[in-house]
Amino acid sequence: MSTRHQRPAAFGAAAFALAMAISPLATPPAQATSAAMHQVVQLELAASSARPATAALATKPKPPRDPAKSDVLVNKKYPLVPRQYVPRLTEIPGTGIRLQPPAAKAYKNLVAAARRDGVNIRLTSGYRSYAVQKGLLEKYTRAYGSTYARRIAAKPGSSEHQTGLAIDVGNHNRACALQACFATTKIGKWMAKNAPRHGFILRYPKGMESVTGYAYEPWHFRYVGTAQAKAMAGSTSKTLEHFYGVAPAPGPTATKPSAPKSGTVKNTRKTTANLNLRRGPSTGTTIIRTVPRGSAVRLTGKKSGSWVQGTHRGATGWMSSRYLR
Ligand SMILES: [Zn+2]
Repeated sequence: MSTRHQRPAAFGAAAFALAMAISPLATPPAQATSAAMHQVVQLELAASSARPATAALATKPKPPRDPAKSDVLVNKKYPLVPRQYVPRLTEIPGTGIRLQPPAAKAYKNLVAAARRDGVNIRLTSGYRSYAVQKGLLEKYTRAYGSTYARRIAAKPGSSEHQTGLAIDVGNHNRACALQACFATTKIGKWMAKNAPRHGFILRYPKGMESVTGYAYEPWHFRYVGTAQAKAMAGSTSKTLEHFYGVAPAPGPTATKPSAPKSGTVKNTRKTTANLNLRRGPSTGTTIIRTVPRGSAVRLTGKKSGSWVQGTHRGATGWMSSRYLR
């Protein structure tokens, strides 16, 4: 068979599964693989302990932290102050969902504008209290383990939903609910195009997980006010972190200046098989893409068992370290 010379796009699902099943034949003997894995782990530990995160931020401007204001930055690094903050809230009629009054007003205008375009948006989440977020994280931790749970749910006190400024939207028939394919639905497309006019930004864009801390969420929008949303839309800032100057420099420039520029950079690996990049550290999670054999992958330094997190052409996900060299 010559399947290993073909590209994954040419595979049917069954043929691809077969290729994955036979691909270990093409990898080094077990001993070499195990030695390579040991090395992977050691290098990752070295990389993560050497990360100069706080030092690099020392000279950067301080982002807005007042959760009563629409420009507040809330993420894993900048939690709410105080952590158990409760905003002033108003209910969106007929939904049982509450938002801060300016966000609620903007949302009503957004819904009316969408309806004029024949788009009927369903609001699925708004304000979530500290206690509700705590319960959500505990539920996901029981179901998926703590590593993956923390990737998909914020710790209580660090969720944007606790500000009352964030919304999750969906389709009334639940199509692509909380999935990347939501972006391809009529509502997903309308929101991506029109939300900034109403003061809402797509908060977790594609390929920005290393900056925002979250995978692509085309359903999650954040109220920042129309002036800022329009300013961001007209700028090169893809995220709030970029807009406030607290994002790490993108791509290869994030590596240390002393590091060599070629594929010999410490945290770069090559795939030894057509390798699935997944949303979580388990074969039960969604495949983001299949990375062709021989491709370069940058490791983020995060790992879970034999799984490591890496980036391939702007997409960040998890892959088995067994097929990396
Ligand atoms: Zn959300």
